[in-house]
This record gives sequence, C-alpha cells and structure tokens, in this order.
Amino acid sequence: GNENRELHVFFFPYLANGHIIPCVDLARVFASRGIRATIVTTPLNVPLISRTVGKANINIRTIKFPSPEETGLPEGCENAELALSADKIMKLLKATVLLRDPLEQVLEEEHPDCLVADMFFPWATDSAAKFGIPRIVFHGLGFFPLCVLACVRQYKPQDKVSSYMEPFVVPNLPGEITLTKMQLPQIPKHDEVFSKQLEEANESELKSYGVIANSFYELEPVYADHYRNELGRRAWHLGPVSLCNRDTEEKARRGREAAIDENECLKWLQSKEPNSVVYVCFGSMTSFPDAQLKEIAMGLEDSGQSFIWVVRKGSKSEDEKLEWLPEGFEERIEGKGLIIRGWAPQVMILDHEAVGGFVTHCGWNSVLEGVCAGLPMVTWPMYAEQFYNAKFLTDIVKIGVSVGVQTWIGMMGRESVKKEVIEKAVKRVMVGEEAEEMRNRAQELGKMARQAVVEGGSSYSDFNSLVEDLRSRAH
Ligand code: UDP
Repeated sequence: GNENRELHVFFFPYLANGHIIPCVDLARVFASRGIRATIVTTPLNVPLISRTVGKANINIRTIKFPSPEETGLPEGCENAELALSADKIMKLLKATVLLRDPLEQVLEEEHPDCLVADMFFPWATDSAAKFGIPRIVFHGLGFFPLCVLACVRQYKPQDKVSSYMEPFVVPNLPGEITLTKMQLPQIPKHDEVFSKQLEEANESELKSYGVIANSFYELEPVYADHYRNELGRRAWHLGPVSLCNRDTEEKARRGREAAIDENECLKWLQSKEPNSVVYVCFGSMTSFPDAQLKEIAMGLEDSGQSFIWVVRKGSKSEDEKLEWLPEGFEERIEGKGLIIRGWAPQVMILDHEAVGGFVTHCGWNSVLEGVCAGLPMVTWPMYAEQFYNAKFLTDIVKIGVSVGVQTWIGMMGRESVKKEVIEKAVKRVMVGEEAEEMRNRAQELGKMARQAVVEGGSSYSDFNSLVEDLRSRAH
C-alpha cells in the first residue's frame, strides 16, 4: 500500500443518545488528529449527529432503517429515546440485526481501514472480517465497568448465591467489589433477547481487534492494567472523549437541541456563587413516576441548595403543566431552582464554576463528565452497568454519596427514594468538610483528565499507538 495513504475509520454507534454522543465525540477526536472519519447511522439520527459533529470534518453516511412491518416498531422509532417501553427497547435491539446487510454494503463500497462499532452490534466483527477490515468495539465505558462485566461473565458468581439480594464479591477483581444478582444485567427475569445480546457482545469482543475505552489511565490505573494484563484484552483508552468539546458553543450543541436557551442558562448560572448549585439529571432515557418526582422536588427544596433539575416526562409532553410538583413549589424556588423540561446542555452546565455537585444515574458518560468538571456526585443508579459505575464513585475514587437504591428499576416494582434521603445526600456533596474533600479529589482527577488528552498525556499517546497499529495493519 501507499505509505501516505490517509487512514479512514468508520464509526457505527448504537441508536441511543448515550451511545451516539460519545461515539461522535470519539470520531471528533480522530478527525482532530488528522484521521478521516465517517459516521454510519440511520436517517432520523442525522440531526442529532450533525449538531454534535459541529464544525469537525466528518462524513455522515446513512443506511436505511427497516420498516415498521419488519421491526414491529412505530414509524420513525429509530432511537431508544423514542422507544418508551421495555417492549419497544427490545424491539429496537432486535431490529439492529437488520442493519447488517446495509452496513456491509457501505463497508464494501468504502472499504475503511477500521470499523469502530458499538457493543450492541455483535455481528459487526464478522461483517468487517468479510472485507478484511479490523473491528474495534466501543462500549463508551471505562475500564472498571469493563472489568466487572468481564469477571462476572467469566466466573458467574451470581450462580453461587441463594437469593437475588445476597451480596457476593466479584471474583478476580481488585478492590473487593460487592454486588447482588439484582444489580447485574444478566438477571434472568430480564428479556432473554437482552441476555443473549450481551453474551454475543462478549464473544464478538473476544474475536474483535480490541476495545476502545472512554477513560484515561490516571482515573483507574489498577483496572486499566487488570483489563489488559490479567483479563488479557487488547484495549486503548482515548478519553474522556467529552473533552473534545472545548468552548461554550461546542458544549451547548452536544446532543439534542436544548430545552432551554443556553444564554439564559448561563446568565442564571452566572448569578450564583461558585460551587453553590447542584445539577440533577438522570441521563437520556430515565423518567420517574410523579410520586418520585415529588420526593425529588421536596428533597431539593429541603436541602437549601440552588439547583438545576432536568426532568424527562416519558411519553407525556414536556411542556405540560408540572402538576406533580408540590403545592406552591415553583413560586418558592423562584431564582433558586431551575427546572429544564427535556434536553439540557449538560457539559456546559457541569463545567460552569457555579455548579458544585451532581446527582446522577451513573451512566458512564455522566460519570466521566462529572469527573472532568471536578464534582462530587450523588449516585442513584437505575439499570445496565450503572450500579458498577456507582460503586466506582463511592468505593474506588471516593467522590460519591449513594442514595441507597439496591435493584434495577422494574425488578421489584420501583424502589422509591424518600425526600429525607435526597436532602441528606445533596447536603453531603455540597457543604461541609466531607464535600470539600470529595471536591478536592474530583478536581484533582479533572486536572489529570485534561492532561491525559493533550500532547504527552496518556490518552493522547494511546491514540498514537492505536493509529500505528492500524497503519501497520493497513500496509
Ligand atoms: N445528556 C445531555 N443532556 C440531557 C441528558 C443527557 O447532554 O438532558 C448527555 C450527557 O451529557 C451524556 C449523555 O447524554 O453525554 C448520556 O449518557 P449517559 O451514559 O450518562 O446516560 P444514558 O443516557 O446512556 O443513560
């Protein structure tokens, strides 16, 4: 081959905002380092992706999403955000298999040097192999959750306990991490399609060229080493990918169009003292029943802290009257609390100096974004690997305070968190000596994150070794 030929990398994210956004950021990291990047997606996900791509030099190629007859989904449901029931989420997962042929067609046409595909496309390793293209898996996760997932799969500690609530220590994992069967993605009551998909994801990961972790070495050196050396996986850490968003404009246009004017939001933040605002957001998927929203509202009010609270209301219109709020709440919190109904410019908000704490569902993107912003966090995990991520914050890096939920949502009905618990956890991350200590630790990590992605840093260097690997393979 031609030594100077440009490398071309394909990115194929799963059709959910929490997967698309970090994948676009990752593509932007490649583009900023002079690598040709193409994102493959379905038509209705293009607006979200273009917004997040911004000025970066990245191509977007679309492949057709299968019809409602083929998927059983309503017309236009091409993103998990619109699949508002467990049934539809599973149908979307199943529908992704139908993207295989169209993806292979594009691979054949463009013949990239590498395919970076989400874990939820287990077949992508074989698809790429058909054309001699190496496939890299991108989960959007860091090493700690990757290690837990791998150890749980390999040693099956959940098979050795007698009940769902009996704690077990994750075998062959540094740090004595205890979990219960209730906190694993592989729980039997869950749809078998999902369990099967996870199994296949694991197999295809083992067959793949390697894994890109959204992390930086200094955050979790023990687990970065463990994943590579003990579990024997090939991996590159190129994160935090969200740090490719540098100015306010880039941060504000990441993801969907925000439900609040960004200048209004900044003005509100500017009127607050440093570290005086707690930001409350549960990711791009989760919504709560009214009773729980009410508890959150009262807990926030009783904490006495200023807050920005992002509320998603599931199928109901986001503009509807907030009738679930406690009597007189909006009047009482005026100036003190800001409710964003819909999408928030999260990274822009987290990075503002007025924000001093983060109540999070512990999706890995949110966890890392909180770390980059130097924030102590209240951990309120819901499902997927969020319980692992929560443990990471509370037990490993010690910048988290738990609200104490124990099980996946929907497993035992819904565990509710009372206002007193919310109030106490918020105070613990916002005020006092413990908060100060956690914030110092978080800020130290945030500093290391920024050093990791610039020349000489660990993620910057790992990027170089990945590119070298790909180049030598391409020749
Ligand atoms: N996000 C955002 N505004 C919102 C909700 C989410 O910008 O109102 C972004 C957030 O910054 C993160 C991603 O969406 O990058 C959510 O990913 P995460 O892993 O935290 O959770 P998920 O949505 O996958 O559960």
